[in-house]
Amino acid sequence: KASPAAQPPAAKPNRSKSEHVKTELAQVVVDAKTGRSYCKGKLLGKGGFARCYEMTDLANNKMYAVKVIPQSRVSKPHQREKIINEIELHKSLQHKHVVKFSHHFEDQDNIYIFLELCSRKSLAHIWKARHTLTDPEVRYYLKQIISALKYLHNKGILHRDLKLGNFFVNENMDLRLGDFGLAAKLETVEQRKKTICGTPNYLAPEVLNRQGHGTESDVWSLGCVMYTLLCGNPPFETLDLKETYKCIKEVRYSLPPSLNPSAQKLISAILQKNPSDRLTLDQILAHEYFTKGFTPEKLPPSSCVMVPELNP
Ligand code: ADP
Repeated sequence: KASPAAQPPAAKPNRSKSEHVKTELAQVVVDAKTGRSYCKGKLLGKGGFARCYEMTDLANNKMYAVKVIPQSRVSKPHQREKIINEIELHKSLQHKHVVKFSHHFEDQDNIYIFLELCSRKSLAHIWKARHTLTDPEVRYYLKQIISALKYLHNKGILHRDLKLGNFFVNENMDLRLGDFGLAAKLETVEQRKKTICGTPNYLAPEVLNRQGHGTESDVWSLGCVMYTLLCGNPPFETLDLKETYKCIKEVRYSLPPSLNPSAQKLISAILQKNPSDRLTLDQILAHEYFTKGFTPEKLPPSSCVMVPELNP
C-alpha cells in the first residue's frame, strides 16, 4: 500500500470574518432558544450521517467542532433514535481523554452537535502521514486511550468502534476518544444483541461468531490499533472481507520480526481468541512494554508528520 503524502500538522487558522462574508460557504447558524449565533468555518470531515465543521460562537469567538446532521438523514424514527442515543450517552461523559460534549440544538434543516475542537484531527490522519509510529509515541497514545476506556468501562459503557479515526488529537497533542455512534451500555451475555457493528478489520472473533460484544472486545480492538500503529497495517487485512473474517476467527496474523520483543509479547497477549484469556486494561498498563519502556510527557506537534527526536 502506498504511503500517502505528509499532511500539515494542524488545521489552518480560521479565515477572518470579512473573508467569510465574501465566500459562498459563509453561513451563520442561530440557536433560536438561546439566541446565540455561530459562524460556519471550514469542513473538518465527513462521516456516515454527518458533516463536521469548525464553527465559531460570534459572542466570544470560541471555536467548536460541530457535527451537522441533515434532518433528511434522520427522517425515520430508528435513525433519529440512533442520534439521540449518541447525544444522550456522549452528554453523560466527562473525562480528560474523552472529546468534550458542549451542547446541541436543531433547526428545520439540521441537528447540530457542538464538540470540543480537536484541531489536529485524528490518529488516522497522523498514521496516514507517518505510516508507523515509534514505541514511545505508541505508549504515549495508548496510555491516554486506556485511561478513557477504563473510564467508559467503569461506567458500564462499551465503545464498540475503536479505530484510529476515533482517537482525536487537539492543538496541544492530547488524545481524546470520540464518536459514540456505536457505543452501548454493557449487557449480560444473555441480553447482548448479537448484531455486528463496527469496523470490519477490528472486530473481535466473539463478535463475528455472534456471541456479543463485551469489554474484552474493546480490548481486542485496542490490540489491533497497537499493531496498526507499530506495523503500518492492520493485523487482519486481506483483499477479501470473507478472508479477513476467517483470519480473525482463527487469529491468523504475523508479527514482523523487527518489532520490539515486548511489543510482540503484549500484542499476542491481547489478540487472544478467547475473551477471558485476553489481558485486561490494567494488565496492559502493567506489562513490561509500558513499565520497561519510556513514555514521553508530551509529543511535539511535528510528530504528526515526522519521526520525533525523543529523549528519556
Ligand atoms: P463518523 O461518525 O462517520 O466516523 P463523524 O461524523 O464522527 O464521522 O466525523 C466526521 C469527521 O469529522 C471525522 O473524520 C473527523 O475528521 C472530523 N471530526 C469529528 N469530530 C471532530 C472533533 N471533535 N474535532 C475535529 N474534527 C472532528
